[in-house]
Amino acid sequence: MRRFPFALVFAASITAWLGSVPTASAQSAPATQPQAARWYKGAIHDHSFWSDGHDFPEMVALHYRDKGFNFLCLTDHDVIADADRWFDVDEAVKRAEADDVLDVYTKQWGADWVETREKDGKKQVRLKKFPEFAPRVEKPGEFILIRSEEITDKIDKLPLHMNAYNLRHAVKPQHGDTTHDALRRNLRAVAEEEQASGGPIVVQINHPSFRWGVAAEDLVDVPEAAFVEVANGGVGKAVLGDELHAGDERVWDIANTLRLAEHGERPLYGTASDDSHAYYGKPQTGSLHGWIMVRAAMLEPTALLTAMQAGDFYASTGIMLSDVHYAPATGEYTVVVAPAADAEYTIEFVGTPVKFDHHSEAVKDKDGQEVHATRRYSADVGKVFETVKGMRVTNGHASGESTVRATYKLTGDELYVRARVTSNQPAANPAYKDQLQQAWTQPVGWEKHVRR
Ligand SMILES: [Zn+2]
Ligand SMILES: [Zn+2]
Repeated sequence: MRRFPFALVFAASITAWLGSVPTASAQSAPATQPQAARWYKGAIHDHSFWSDGHDFPEMVALHYRDKGFNFLCLTDHDVIADADRWFDVDEAVKRAEADDVLDVYTKQWGADWVETREKDGKKQVRLKKFPEFAPRVEKPGEFILIRSEEITDKIDKLPLHMNAYNLRHAVKPQHGDTTHDALRRNLRAVAEEEQASGGPIVVQINHPSFRWGVAAEDLVDVPEAAFVEVANGGVGKAVLGDELHAGDERVWDIANTLRLAEHGERPLYGTASDDSHAYYGKPQTGSLHGWIMVRAAMLEPTALLTAMQAGDFYASTGIMLSDVHYAPATGEYTVVVAPAADAEYTIEFVGTPVKFDHHSEAVKDKDGQEVHATRRYSADVGKVFETVKGMRVTNGHASGESTVRATYKLTGDELYVRARVTSNQPAANPAYKDQLQQAWTQPVGWEKHVRR
């Protein structure tokens, strides 16, 4: 027997919300939340000419700044834009698929900025280092860059990629005998770098579904791990899984369930990103596949990363939330959507009961061979505890605030609870056919299960 856990509130018009970044609601924000805290929009996985991206780093930064992002983490493979690097203009033209890529760049930043040379009969352009280009694109209080890297490891043929944010030095891939082993070694290497640098460094494990490199079990018995991508614009439909593999959101639930139930480890927080390589003119490229909204008092790396570590952020492919609030004293977990005109929302509270069916089975291919894939678990794992469907706000009401809100009251019998919000509107920049806008908030109610 359960009481109805939801309080639905529909107030008047939505006009106040449209086109603006919602601010944290002072009324329902945690008491510890500074009054000035607000949501900052961040792109946390992007590539430039520094590795396999298709544009200059400062052009990529400008792209995100123009789209209204507040921070960008350029995550080129195994590099933090700190070397002397000359880049073939032919290669730039090829990647950008634009003969005028250098002209566009020069027009944007000025002839004084662009350095070219001839080497072995080839025209080259120097890639600017992070300390050079960051000040040219940053606008204090509006847009900043966080120096970052995609640590790009490989175990046998399986990719293991991790983004490390707020680095002073690049961290080399550490390798290992297994994905699990390599993951721990890489995370420890970053922890050493964090000790040396003194500032917070956040690491996320990227795109588990990319070439099915990471299985849920690889993310268990890894106390150093704290973040995983659950939406990545680069992997397309693989994010949903296939007949042999769990999708990234399922991997997240399985990993969190096993971490808490079997190892007393804190759950992973979920992120969303573009993983963009190309930015202009091609379908299924560019920004707005996925991003995070971080609630912080300041637009500054330490404040943003500390808020992420506290779970005060959500992942999105289009939906904006005005508040997410968990009150441990009452067990109430509240999600408030900043609704778009005529959109319809479903809010689901997802988690795993403490008493869940632990049974699992290995995945085998057609020949009966076991494959490196997340095992199959019961429907208890990552089940939907409650659903609130069909919440809709239509245009044309009188002025005033409008909210779409749902509250789930934890019973105490959950290992963790998170929320998933789904709109009936297409994703901001769909990464696969028929993708809808979604938002994912972080697991709560798990602290009492942590021993490690
Ligand atoms: Zn990657
Ligand atoms: Zn990447």
